Amino acid sequence: MSEPWEWPPEQLRAEIKASGLLGRGGAGFPVWRKWESMPARRLVGTSRRRVVIGNGAEGEPLSRKDAVLLQRDPHQVIDGLLVTAAAVHADELHLHLDEAAEATLSRALQQRPEASRIRLHRSAKSFVSGESSAVIGAIGGGPAFPTDRRLPASISGLRGHPTLVHNVETLSRISQIVRMGGNRFSLIGTPQDPGPHLLTVQRPGHRGAPVVLESTANASLVDVLFGAGIDPDSVSAVLLGGFHGRWTRMDESARKPFGRIPGAGVIVALAPQVCPLRYTATVTRWLANENAGQCGPCRFGLPDLATAVQELADFPRTAAIQDIQDIHRLMGQVSRRGACFHPTGTANLVASALQMFPDEVDAHLAGRCTATESIRESA
Ligand code: SF4
Repeated sequence: MSEPWEWPPEQLRAEIKASGLLGRGGAGFPVWRKWESMPARRLVGTSRRRVVIGNGAEGEPLSRKDAVLLQRDPHQVIDGLLVTAAAVHADELHLHLDEAAEATLSRALQQRPEASRIRLHRSAKSFVSGESSAVIGAIGGGPAFPTDRRLPASISGLRGHPTLVHNVETLSRISQIVRMGGNRFSLIGTPQDPGPHLLTVQRPGHRGAPVVLESTANASLVDVLFGAGIDPDSVSAVLLGGFHGRWTRMDESARKPFGRIPGAGVIVALAPQVCPLRYTATVTRWLANENAGQCGPCRFGLPDLATAVQELADFPRTAAIQDIQDIHRLMGQVSRRGACFHPTGTANLVASALQMFPDEVDAHLAGRCTATESIRESA
């Protein structure tokens, strides 16, 4: 029986479409649509190459899933890259990886003569370097910064060639789908978000290291926390989707199915003694420092927003708290500006904290911190 990457491209595309697979890098875009966005071969012309890039850079600092996947199952990622290349008639194949995964993938490629076309590239260590236009820029020899593309990468990507970028977990799911069948895969999880997902559960204030586990969109937050060895009653708040994610409380909604897994599957479960406003302030400062400094909102807006959130969150207070409207004004100044989603994602995180923690905001405005009080009470 032939290998899946030797199947006709139409058959591969039909399986992926039947599976309903969404990309696992965070944006959750349907994979079959991404494949169809690559121009038909007859329109491209013989001189233009086609490129597929597997992105394992994992810019999201709280995510560990891609690192674990690349260490444990590099061949499944390689298979997915070969299948994708076959489906879109790609000539160039690249894997963009963290330094830690390089040796494992290099060994795996040596065992795979059919994968000798795959080139490995070491990723930069920054939040925005995992963004797909930054990955294309870095492999092309430029800086690993996001760029404001007038043309989509599927038309003009790496060195002007049609380019497809997939997260490495997406590639491993593609490999599973062609082996188990798209229809079977579509029955796992929910119709809106089929198939298994790798999740990273972080636990600030709890004992133990982050946990990477597999779950599905029909699981609930409570299911995932139990799966990670965390008692949901010991969790005061959860950040869903990583640093550009949104906050939620452990209320009734935590027992309902996700429906769709948030972002790249990062779940941060805070213990009650960790102040969610201070956590948000720390993340906002980190995000303000993690930008390419190319665009106005990142150079001027995000540092001011980080300072305003810090002043609200600091306890004991270190500066006079500005009117909360100031934070809203600064969020408005950076949202939907810049060449990439970074300023908007950072503003969304702050907006979500203000919306989800009104009691904590009132306490901080009054010079108190409910998390600190909970530590004193339990002492
Ligand atoms: S918005 Fe910020 S992170 Fe995005 S490209 Fe511009 S400077 Fe870089």
